[in-house]
Amino acid sequence: MNEVRVRFAPSPTGYLHIGSARTAYFNWLFARKEKGRLILRIEDTDISRHQEDMIATILDSLKWLSVRWDEGPDIGGDYGPYRQSERNEYYRKYADFLLGSKKAYRCFCTPEELEQRRQDYAKKGEFFSYDRKCLELDDRQIKDRLKQKMPFSIRMLVPDGKEISFKDTVYGKIKVNSSNIDDFIILRSNNLPTYNFSAVIDDYLMKITHIIRGEDHLSNTPKQLLIYDSLNISPPSFTHLPMILSKDGEKLSKRHGAISVESYRDEGFLQEAVKNYLALLGWAFDEKTTIFSEKEIIKKFSLETINKKASRFDYEKLLHINSMYIKNHEISDLAGMLKDRLKKRITEMDKSDLKNNCLKEADLKNPEAVGAIFREIEDKILYIIPLVNKRAKTLNEIEKMILPFFFKIIYPDEIKNFFAGKNINAASLLKQAKSTLSKITDNDFCLPLIEKELRDLAEANNITFGELAEVLRLALWGRTVSLPLFETITILGRKKSLHRLSEYLELIS
Ligand code: GLU
Repeated sequence: MNEVRVRFAPSPTGYLHIGSARTAYFNWLFARKEKGRLILRIEDTDISRHQEDMIATILDSLKWLSVRWDEGPDIGGDYGPYRQSERNEYYRKYADFLLGSKKAYRCFCTPEELEQRRQDYAKKGEFFSYDRKCLELDDRQIKDRLKQKMPFSIRMLVPDGKEISFKDTVYGKIKVNSSNIDDFIILRSNNLPTYNFSAVIDDYLMKITHIIRGEDHLSNTPKQLLIYDSLNISPPSFTHLPMILSKDGEKLSKRHGAISVESYRDEGFLQEAVKNYLALLGWAFDEKTTIFSEKEIIKKFSLETINKKASRFDYEKLLHINSMYIKNHEISDLAGMLKDRLKKRITEMDKSDLKNNCLKEADLKNPEAVGAIFREIEDKILYIIPLVNKRAKTLNEIEKMILPFFFKIIYPDEIKNFFAGKNINAASLLKQAKSTLSKITDNDFCLPLIEKELRDLAEANNITFGELAEVLRLALWGRTVSLPLFETITILGRKKSLHRLSEYLELIS
C-alpha cells in the first residue's frame, strides 16, 4: 500500500484557532498511527505582507503543541515549495490544461458587469449564478479580447445534471447534483488561484492520500471532485471533522473566551493537556476515560471512530484536565517552565501597578535586584513546586501563588481589614516571633524546629496557633492566606523571613 500522506493547510488569516489545532492534531495522530507523513502547507495565495507574522505564530503554536510536520515551508521536502504563494506556475499550468481540454473557459466579464447582473436577478427575486455568457464566445471573439489584453478569469465548465457522490469517513455517503454548482472561478483575473483549485492541485502534486479537515469544507468537496474528475485523477479520501461549538451550542468565537492556542499557552496550560482535550473533541477514548497518554491515543485513534455530532468546547473540563496534568507532571519539568514564566512576568511587572505595592526588597528598576531575584528563583523553585502543584489548575495560577517568595507585595486593604475590630497586639507578637526565629541558627533553620518554636510562642502568649499564623502570614507574605506557613518560612529562609518581619514592624508602627 502507498505511504499515507496527510496535510494541514492553514490560511494565515489569524492565530491558530482551537478548531484548527484539533484538525492539525488529528492529521498528526493519523500520520503517526499509519506511519505516514504530515505535510504542512501554507495557503497564502491571498494575503498581504503583514500576515507573515501570522504564519510565524501558527508555526510556533504547532511547535508548542509538539505537532511536528515531516515536510513544510521551514524544513522543505520532495514536493515543495510548501507555500501556495510560491506555487503559481503549477496552478497556471493546470488551468491551461483544463482550458485546452475545454473543461474550463475564459470569462471576460468584469466585476461591475457581474454585479449589475446579480442586482438585476435580485430585482426579479432570483439568485444569480454565472450565466455562461462567456462560454458563448467563439474563437475569434476570444482572440480579439486577448489581443486587447482584456483581463479574464478562468471558470470550470461544470457539467449539467451530473451526480457527484463521495463517501466521507465521518458523514457517510454524500450526493450533490452538479446543476446546483455554477461555473466557479479557478483562476482569478489577477492570476491567483481560488482555494478549491489550488487545494486540489497541491493535494494531487503533494501526493496526499487522506484529507482530514473541518466540516466547514464539506460543501467545497463536490467542487473539488469536479476538478479531480476533469483532470482525470483520482481523489484522496475525505474526512471532515465536526464543528466545535461553544458550551451553549453557538459557533465558538472570541465571545466565549480564549480560542487561540497561543492564549492557552500564555494562560499556563500544558501542551499535553491541551492535546488530550483536543482528542476528546469529536473522538472518544472509550465511554468514560478522559485522561490518557499520547501513546494510548495513537494506539486507539482511527478516523472511523470520529463522531459526527458537533462537539462542545468545555473550558472547565480543559481546566480540570490541565490540573491533573500539572499534578502528575515531572517536578523538574514544571520547574523549567515556571522559571522562564516567572522571569518574564517579573520583567514585565515593572510596568504594572503592582510595582507600587512591592516592598523595597524588590526594586524592579534595579537590574542587580532583579538579577538577585532571578537567582533566587533558580535556587528555590524545586522546593516550592511541591507546595503548589496539587492546588493549581494552570501555571499562571502557580505563578501568582508563589510570586511572594521572591518579593512581597503589600495589600493595604488586607492590613486594614485585619486590624479592624481585632484586639491583638500584632507588633508584640511579631517582635517575639522575630526574636524566636533569630535564635535559630542558619544551619538549624529547618521545618520541625521552626514549627516547634512558633507553636510554643503561641502557647506562651495564650493564643491559638491560628491567630499567630494570621499575623505571621500578613507580615511575611502580605496576606492572611498563604501557602503552608512552616514550609513557607523554611523556603523563604532565615534572612529573608527576619527581614520581612522587621520591615513589617516598621510599616505598622
Ligand atoms: N486553508 C484552508 C483553511 O484554513 C484549509 C482547507 C483544507 O484543508 O482543504 O481552512
